This record gives sequence, structure tokens and C-alpha cells, in this order.
Amino acid sequence: MSDYKLLIDGALVDGASTMEVINPATEEVLAICPRGSEAQLDAAIAAAKAAYPGWAMVALSQRRDLILKLADAISAKRFELARLLTQEQGKPLPEAEAEITFAEAFIRQLVVHELPVRVLEDSESRRVELHRRPLGVVGAIIPWNFPVWLTLFKLPLALLAGNTIVLKPAPTTPLTTLRLGEMMAGIFPAGVVNIVTDQNDLGERLTTHPDVAKISFTGSTETGRKVMASAAGTIKRVTLELGGNDAALVLPDVDPAKVAPAIFDAAFVNAGQVCIAIKRVYAHSAIYDSLCRELARLAEEVVVDDGLKQGVRMGPLQNRAQYEKVKDFLASGHADGTIIAGGVVEDRPGYFIRPTIVRDISDGARLVDEEQFGPILPIIRYDDPDEALARANNSPMGLGGSIWSSDREKARDLAKRMESGTVWINKHLDLDAAIPFSGAKQSGLGMELAEEGFHEFTQVHVINEAR
Ligand code: NAD
Repeated sequence: MSDYKLLIDGALVDGASTMEVINPATEEVLAICPRGSEAQLDAAIAAAKAAYPGWAMVALSQRRDLILKLADAISAKRFELARLLTQEQGKPLPEAEAEITFAEAFIRQLVVHELPVRVLEDSESRRVELHRRPLGVVGAIIPWNFPVWLTLFKLPLALLAGNTIVLKPAPTTPLTTLRLGEMMAGIFPAGVVNIVTDQNDLGERLTTHPDVAKISFTGSTETGRKVMASAAGTIKRVTLELGGNDAALVLPDVDPAKVAPAIFDAAFVNAGQVCIAIKRVYAHSAIYDSLCRELARLAEEVVVDDGLKQGVRMGPLQNRAQYEKVKDFLASGHADGTIIAGGVVEDRPGYFIRPTIVRDISDGARLVDEEQFGPILPIIRYDDPDEALARANNSPMGLGGSIWSSDREKARDLAKRMESGTVWINKHLDLDAAIPFSGAKQSGLGMELAEEGFHEFTQVHVINEAR
């Protein structure tokens, strides 16, 4: 029996079975969690399908009011939610509090959108109107790095547009989402929001199900490929927010001591488990040694421990599989470069790896070419910015990137040529609910947030009337 419940058709219910959720800081069982079955997923999809016509008929302003009640409910329980998030996800408590705060703020910012009818032509011969209709049942699939925030990239816009939703959190971080489910059970009509957990075994059923109209997926590129293939059978709409290997291109005109803290934070927040973290730094020869020194100094200062303890800057990796993967990347760092900070796995319970800086490493090394999704940062030396940009662009990924320079013209010129969904100048990792977010190349398909993201939860519907 679990203290947590799935949300299916307005009812908070036990799972068909249970599963353990592990606290990554202790490797102890944090909670017994309900595990959904195929039959429960089918029931959730059926409930969402049944609720859809009624929900789509509710006025958008009324849908907005209900969604805002969720923001209020989150606000009222923010500290409780943040504590649980730290325990299941691993991030330090201040970062968990920030995630909850951002999530709530994103709800409020996202629900401002409207769906006005656009008159494309109103002439003697015809009147042509562009309407946007909801799609039906949306399947939302969430990864484990920002379980709450990423859920609330999707849910407010999907519901505001008039869709109903079946939400599937990641197997290792379902608990905070299930607490949101308890709140939503008291807010939305039955079937409008459903939450079903799994052990990585229900994704395929959700993405192939004929009654699901759209999949909004955030996760790895590898799984994203499977989602796209599964969706093909019924031509589902898909939005895919996938992996990244963001490069920071640091020009010779910066002051290394000044830029290092911002680069460091953008690489190591959430123990580097951020899709748009800086994952490789290209630093010009003129500032290479001093930037490496600064970053190594910052890494040595970081207090790594259980995120619930005061003063902790970095928690553990989120789960054992990721911990093992990052340890392999550490081996690549040792083999292909020089480790100047961190580099050792602490002999203690919990999935802890100290922030690690690797220099004298170049393209072709696994740690540079692939997404490490952990606290290990490679610093690559270059002499010619154009050539460095070409190396940064020579990647199947294209999520984010950044240019660091005191020469704004030069920075803007390089930014325009960087192949990524977002390029920042003299910063990295600046997300806003009013700015569309998308990945280039194999980092994604479609958009989230802003009006562009809202429109992805709708179908264009043209009404063309003869005069
Ligand atoms: P993952 O792909 O392993 O899992 C993501 C989700 O997909 C989980 O809920 C999982 O249960 C589910 N899933 C597994 N198999 C499935 C299948 N066959 N069909 C449908 N769903 C399935 O990713 P992860 O390891 O949880 O997350 C880390 C990855 O996510 C990194 O690559 C990171 O860059 C990426 N990410 C991207 C963004 C973005 O916005 N672009 C944001 C956060 C994370």
C-alpha cells in the first residue's frame, strides 16, 4: 500500500502493483509508489477521451481560471513539494525551491494566451477564417531531471487549448508529480488530467494508442526516436524536446575571472543534468589556462552532499543508471584529457560525483562528442573562432549554445551562425515562458512555451465561406 495515488478519471487510485522510489543521496527507499498497468493506462486514456468533448466546450477563460487554481495550490504547498523533490530527485533544496517557484510562475505566464479567430480574407467573393481547435487527448512524457517544471511546460498549454491529458512521469521521479495529481483531482473535471506511473514500460503503449492525438515528449534523443516511430502509425502530432550537447564559445577578449562563475553555474546546476547545460567549452588559447584555472578553483569550492543539508551546492546524480553512465564519461576524461578538479567517485552511499574539470581534451573524445548529462566539463583549446564554431556545429545535436565576448558585434555574428534552437550571448540557460524553446537537428522537433508552443497543442481549422 502506498501513500501516493495515480489519478485516473478523477479518482485517486492505487496502482495495479507498486514500485520503490530510491533517494539518490542515500540509496535508501524513499517511498513505495503505485505502478500503473497497461489496463490502467488504457482506462486513463479512455477517461481523457470521454472528458475531451465537454472540456473543449468550456470557455477558454474558465479553463484558465481552473489552471490558475493549480498555481495557487502549488504555491500553498511549495516548501513541502520542494522537500519531496530534493528527496526523490537529488538536487539541493534551494534548487528544488527554485524549480517549484519557476513551475508556478510558468503556469501563470503560459495561461495568458488566447485563441482568437483570424480573418484571412473578407471580400465580396468569400470570407476565410482561421480557427484553432484542440487536438483531443495529449500524452505527456516527462524525464527525471526537472519532473515538476517540465510537466508544467506542457500541462497548462495543453489544457488551456482545450485538450485533455495523460501524464507519465519518469519511473525514478514520480512522487512530486503524484502530489500535484492530488491537487488536480480537486480542481479539474474527471478525466481532464490523468497521471499514470510506470517502470519505463508504458511509453510505447501511450505513444501508439489510437485514441491519443498528440505526444509531448521531453527526454533523450534515443527515446525520442522511438516516440516518433510509434507516433507514425496514427500520424500523431509530436513535440520532441530531446538531448543537447551545448557548446560555450569563449573568445579571447573576455576576462576569465569574470565569466567563469556564470559558465560554471550553467554547466553544473542540477549536477549537470540539464538539457541546456553547458556541456563543452571552447576556450581561446589566449585565455585557456586562466579559464581552466578559474573553473577548477570554483569546482573545488563546491560542497557536494545530500541536498537536504544546509550549504550544499551539488547533490547526487539522480539514479544509478545515470551514475554508471557518468562514471564511464569520467573514464573518457581520464583517458583523453587532464583532470584538474574532481575526477574521483566518492566512496560513500549515494550517487555522488564531484564537479570535474577536464582540460587538454578535444573533439573526437567521447566526453566532448556525446552528451554526458552529469558534472564533468571538458575545456577544448582553439585558436580561430570560426574554426571553433565549425567544430561546435559539427554535432548531431543543436539545443542551445552560447558566445562569450566583450565585442558585441563579433558575438552576434557568431551567434547567427551557431546551429542551435537558442543561442545566448554572455549568458547561458536563460529560459522564459514567453520565449519559444526548441531544438535544432536531433535535439528536437517542434516548440514549447510562448505562443508558438501553445499553437502546437492546436489544429488549424479553416472556415472558408462563399459570399
Ligand atoms: P529518457 O528518454 O530515458 O526518458 C524520458 C521519458 O521517456 C521517461 O518518462 C521514460 O519513462 C519515457 N520512456 C522510456 N521509454 C519510452 C518509450 N519507448 N516510449 C515513450 N516513452 C518512453 O530520458 P531521461 O534519461 O529521463 O532524461 C534525460 C534526457 O532528457 C537527456 O538526454 C536530456 O538532454 C533530455 N532532456 C531534454 C530536455 C529538452 O527540453 N530538450 C529537457 C530535459 C531533458
